[in-house]
Amino acid sequence: MSETRHTKVLIIGSGPAGYTAGVYASRAMLSPILVQGIEPGGQLTTTTEVENYPGFTEVQGPDLMIKMQEHAQAMGCEIVGDIITNLDTSKRPFTATGDSGTVYTADAVILATGARAKWLGLPSEDAYKGFGVSACATCDGFFYRGQEIVVIGGGNTAVEEALFLTNFASKVTLIHRRDELRAEKILIDRLMKNEKIEPLWHHVLDEVVGEDNPKGVTAVRVKHVETGEVSEIPCKGVFVAIGHAPASELVKDVLDLHNGGYVKVKPGSTETSIPGIFAAGDLTDHKYRQAVTSAGMGCMAALDAEHWLAAQD
Ligand code: FAD
Ligand code: NAP
Repeated sequence: MSETRHTKVLIIGSGPAGYTAGVYASRAMLSPILVQGIEPGGQLTTTTEVENYPGFTEVQGPDLMIKMQEHAQAMGCEIVGDIITNLDTSKRPFTATGDSGTVYTADAVILATGARAKWLGLPSEDAYKGFGVSACATCDGFFYRGQEIVVIGGGNTAVEEALFLTNFASKVTLIHRRDELRAEKILIDRLMKNEKIEPLWHHVLDEVVGEDNPKGVTAVRVKHVETGEVSEIPCKGVFVAIGHAPASELVKDVLDLHNGGYVKVKPGSTETSIPGIFAAGDLTDHKYRQAVTSAGMGCMAALDAEHWLAAQD
C-alpha cells in the first residue's frame, strides 16, 4: 500500500555525496530521509582498493561505503531502500515518488545521484572490469607502475588520463577512432610532446585479451576502422575514457544543466536553478569526479539546505 512521508530534507542517492549530506543534515537536526537508489553505496561499491580517501591508506570501496552509511545512520539519518522515479519541483513541498509506491514530500531536496562512465559494451571489457579494465586513471593508475597501458578515446578525459598515466606506465598507447582529437589544443600539445605516449589513429577496441589465473589483462585486439585489419597490442591496463553520463534524468527538464547533462550549481555553492533543490557530487562535477570531492559537496549541500530552510522560516 502506498504511503506519504514528509521530511524537511530528502536526500536522493547513497554515494559519498548523499551519505555525507546525511551526516550533516542529521547533525543540523533536520531529520533527513535518504533514498539509496538502485546502487546502495554508489560507484565505490564497484571497485576494490581505494587509496586516496583521507584517513584510509587503503580501504575496500564497499567497506568504505558501509562505514559512511553507518555514520549517517548513527547521526540519525533515515535510510530507505527505494528508487525515486519522479520528482515534482513545480510546487513546495517538493514531491518525489518512489518505485515502492511511497510518496516523499520534502521542504528541500539534495540531489546526489552521481554519474556513470560510458563503456564500449564489449563482453570482454565487462569481464575484465576491475581486473585491468578501468574508467578512472586517478583511481587505478597507481596499480600499473612500469607497465604498458592503453587509453581509449580522443576527448579531454582521454588525453588527460593518458598524460596522467605516464607518471606510472612505461608506455601509453592512445587508441582513437579518428585521426583528430577533440581535446583542447594545450592538452594535445602536451600529449604529442610526451615520449611515453604513442597515438594509434583510426582504430577501435575489438576485444580485451586476458587470462584467468591470476585474472588480468594481457593485451588488446584493435581494429582499423577503414581497412578492418585486426592487430594486437600487449598491455596490462585498459582505460576507457569515452565520456561520462551524469544521472540527471529526474531533473533534465526542470533544472539548468551544462557540459552534457551535469546539473549546474551556482559557483561555490550547491544551489541549483530552483530554490530549495541542491545538488552535490558527480552529478554536478564533470571535472574532478572523486569520492572526497563528492563528500565535500555533500557537506556543502546539507549546510546550504539548512541555511535556506532557516531563511524560509
Ligand atoms: P555515486 O557514487 O555515483 O552514487 C550515486 C547514488 O545515487 C547511488 O547510490 C545511486 O543508487 C543513487 N541514485 C541514482 N539515481 C537514483 C534515483 N533515481 N533514486 C535514488 N537514488 C538514485 N574516487 C576516488 O576518490 N577514489 C577511487 O579510488 C575511486 N575509484 C573508483 C573506481 C571505480 C570503478 C569507479 C566507477 C569510480 C571510482 N571513483 C573513485 C569515483 C567515485 O566513486 C565517485 O567520484 C563517487 O562515488 C561519486 O559520488 P556521488 O555520491 O556523487 O555518486
Ligand atoms: P567527450 O568530449 O565526449 O569525448 C569522448 C571521446 O571518446 C571522443 O573523442 C569520442 O570520439 C570517443 N568515443 C565516444 N564513444 C566512443 C566509442 N563508442 N568508441 C570509440 N571512441 C568513442 O568526453 P570527455 O573527454 O569525457 O569530456 C566530457 C566533457 O568534460 C567535455 O565537455 C570536456 O571538455 C570536459 N572535460 C574537461 C576537462 C578539462 O577541462 N580539463 C577534462 C575532462 C573533461 P570522437 O571524437 O570521434 O567523437
